[in-house]
Amino acid sequence: MRTLFKSALVALLFASAAHCQSPSLRLFSETRPAMGTKFTIHLFAADERKAAEYFELAFDEIDRIEEVLSNYRPSSELSRINSRAAQEAVTTDPEVFALLRLALDFSRRSNGAFDITVGPLVRAWGFFRGEGRYPSAEELAKARAVVGWKNVQLDPASRTVHYRFPGVELDLGAVGKGYALDRVIELLREAGVQSALVDAGSSTMLALGAPPGEEGWRVQIPQPANRTQSVSSVLLRDASLSTSGSYEKFFRLNGRTYCHIFDPRIGEPVQNMLQTTVIASDATTSDILSTALFVLGPAAGKELLRSGPDAKVLWIQGEPQALQLDFWRWPDPVFPSASSPRQSPRRPLADRQFVQRRFFQR
Ligand code: AMP
Ligand code: MG
Repeated sequence: MRTLFKSALVALLFASAAHCQSPSLRLFSETRPAMGTKFTIHLFAADERKAAEYFELAFDEIDRIEEVLSNYRPSSELSRINSRAAQEAVTTDPEVFALLRLALDFSRRSNGAFDITVGPLVRAWGFFRGEGRYPSAEELAKARAVVGWKNVQLDPASRTVHYRFPGVELDLGAVGKGYALDRVIELLREAGVQSALVDAGSSTMLALGAPPGEEGWRVQIPQPANRTQSVSSVLLRDASLSTSGSYEKFFRLNGRTYCHIFDPRIGEPVQNMLQTTVIASDATTSDILSTALFVLGPAAGKELLRSGPDAKVLWIQGEPQALQLDFWRWPDPVFPSASSPRQSPRRPLADRQFVQRRFFQR
């Protein structure tokens, strides 16, 4: 497997001291590993002690959610469900039940393009703890026989999860990080933070408010083919941005590229899509949508978006030398000639203090 860059995005965060309405607030940032990537939290706080308090609160919550939702941890609630739900209806807690319900609702609405039962496909194609590989016909047939969101039955009255047959396996890799960011921002807001950006390995980020004196948190979206170049630059304020990219995990065979995002309806990695970026009001939705719309592509994706949720989308397909861009309500200019973010027509960056996100590799 080749992992070009783990991160899907480069975020440039600007805090202009000159326009700062709350001069007593300072920007603090902290990065810690979680959920197979690195989470970074940027927030404005009065002093280091207060910032450290917020970081503890936030990272504890991320750890809690990983312990509940990870299918890499045998002790997680998700693993407990996966190991028992084919034999009996398993009662789960309200938090997990609500998330499964939401995810399965997106499966219905996307006609199965988004499907948290992809677990067996992830394994068959060697992406679970592995480097990716072409499965045998038998392995593929076995996986395809159990993948399908209709194989999971949820009963709201008893809050139970039941699989129709053995082998069904839930994988929340396409939604867990977004969900964690929503919970973190909720906690930080309750604790009194007014301005923060939480970032899950740059594939999903969520902004609370804006840096003091600014309109929002500026985030650069890199080109899939050349990640030092920006393809667009957006301002996030009480909004989330997620990117799904074919370059995050993939292997090549006989001139074809096989990535870690599957079209569950055919049991194969999605071809011909490089990157899909979504802006939505919350990170659970943007995370789900970036994966769903990566699978659906622009035409079917726009059909889905016509009936909500409210989102803005940038699809990138094509070859590195000839990128094809497609949009849905995208708010900001794009840089069709792969120009540098410093040429943003909207906001000259001079005199701005900035923090540049680093690329992470697993
Ligand atoms: P993301 O990077 O958010 O697009 O999530 C990709 C991860 O979601 C993969 O590593 C799989 O664990 C899982 N996944 C792959 N394809 C799908 C799909 N069609 N629907 C839901 N989850 C998927
Ligand atoms: Mg996702």
